[in-house]
Amino acid sequence: MDIQQFREFGKAAVDYIADYFETIRDRPVLPSVQPGYLGELLPREPPQSGESWQDVLQDVDRIIMPGLTHWHSPNFHAYYPTAHSFSCSRWRNDECRIRIHDLVQVASPAYTELEVAMMNWLGKLLHLPDEFLNCSEGPGGGVIQGSASEVTFVELTEADIKGKLVAYSSDQSNSSVEKAGLLGSMPMRLLPSDKQGRLTAATLIEAIEKDKSQGLIPCYVVANLGTTPTCAFDDLSELGPVCNRENIWLHVDAAYAGTAFVCPEYRHLMKGVEYSDSFNFNPHKWMLVNFDCSAMWVKDAKYLVEAFNVERIYLKDNHKGLAPEYRHWQISLGRRFRALKLWFVLRIYGVEGIQKHVRHQISLAQYFEKLVKSDKRFQLCTSSMGLVCFRLKGEGQPYTSTP
Ligand code: PLP
Repeated sequence: MDIQQFREFGKAAVDYIADYFETIRDRPVLPSVQPGYLGELLPREPPQSGESWQDVLQDVDRIIMPGLTHWHSPNFHAYYPTAHSFSCSRWRNDECRIRIHDLVQVASPAYTELEVAMMNWLGKLLHLPDEFLNCSEGPGGGVIQGSASEVTFVELTEADIKGKLVAYSSDQSNSSVEKAGLLGSMPMRLLPSDKQGRLTAATLIEAIEKDKSQGLIPCYVVANLGTTPTCAFDDLSELGPVCNRENIWLHVDAAYAGTAFVCPEYRHLMKGVEYSDSFNFNPHKWMLVNFDCSAMWVKDAKYLVEAFNVERIYLKDNHKGLAPEYRHWQISLGRRFRALKLWFVLRIYGVEGIQKHVRHQISLAQYFEKLVKSDKRFQLCTSSMGLVCFRLKGEGQPYTSTP
């Protein structure tokens, strides 16, 4: 989409939203659709080639609107008020400003059902194991969270034996991993990485054995696919069997680099992903989706639901079991309609458009790497995906291993 198309799209979207608010009083507050309606209307896979924004906007009206509860309607008197003003909408167009909350499935089926469908599309796009997908037979599924930090914390809280539990990651992991340990009151051991910035199985085993000998219970490992400092990749086919054998929850943080797995040539870097219990990447980092949008999958959602399930009379509905109750998969109760922006991006770019974007960005990094190498003033430290780390020669210590 070029700038001219963006202008046209933006104007059409604003007109659509303005028309929506002009007619909201006359719309039935509650949706008339049956639960599961959206799955019948959407293709099972993301489109291979990009589609026009006109088609997608038309589909918002055709298939999304009928599945929404209109929280902004003057005839809506349930739950609590939801704030909205045109002055705020001006800055927050990313979710089309049709702000509807989804506390429970019945509060807006389109919310949950589009998210289920998009997490299936996205999981297939990355070639994640079927067990992670909502459309598989088992108890797995995907959900959109606000950030990778929330995801790492949410996965950690599944454990129910407090006091003796201990978690691990590498010293290259993102600050949010250590923070998850702090929030969950669980020691998070940041184990030394090797020269390539990877956590090795030998280091992990040593730490596990030491903790077990002191009566502690190792329960959680965060492996990195694309570390923040150098975009290094832990070897899941090495760490995974250790975690499975020790009955340790293995979470994969692919916040940045996960997007690269839309391209088959990079999927070898997630070899062993089938050993993991949960997987996360941020489409808001590299997959053309505006902040915030963090995709998380779990093999067995029951662990999340058991940890976060707090029922109240005002949250009861009659549609239990028909679609995931995503409020039990996250910290907050209310949820935003993040699946809508994901749907727009996946349809307008298509699989090929996203692959082209990733390959182009990596080729720019490779070009930059060449420029650095050919310039005597600089030393190249590491280069991986779209990240090139380099330093000015002659100051401080020369670069020898991972920072
Ligand atoms: N994990 C990795 C590997 C990251 O690079 C980052 C952000 O830089 C995060 C987690 C945290 O992401 P978020 O801002 O979505 O919490």
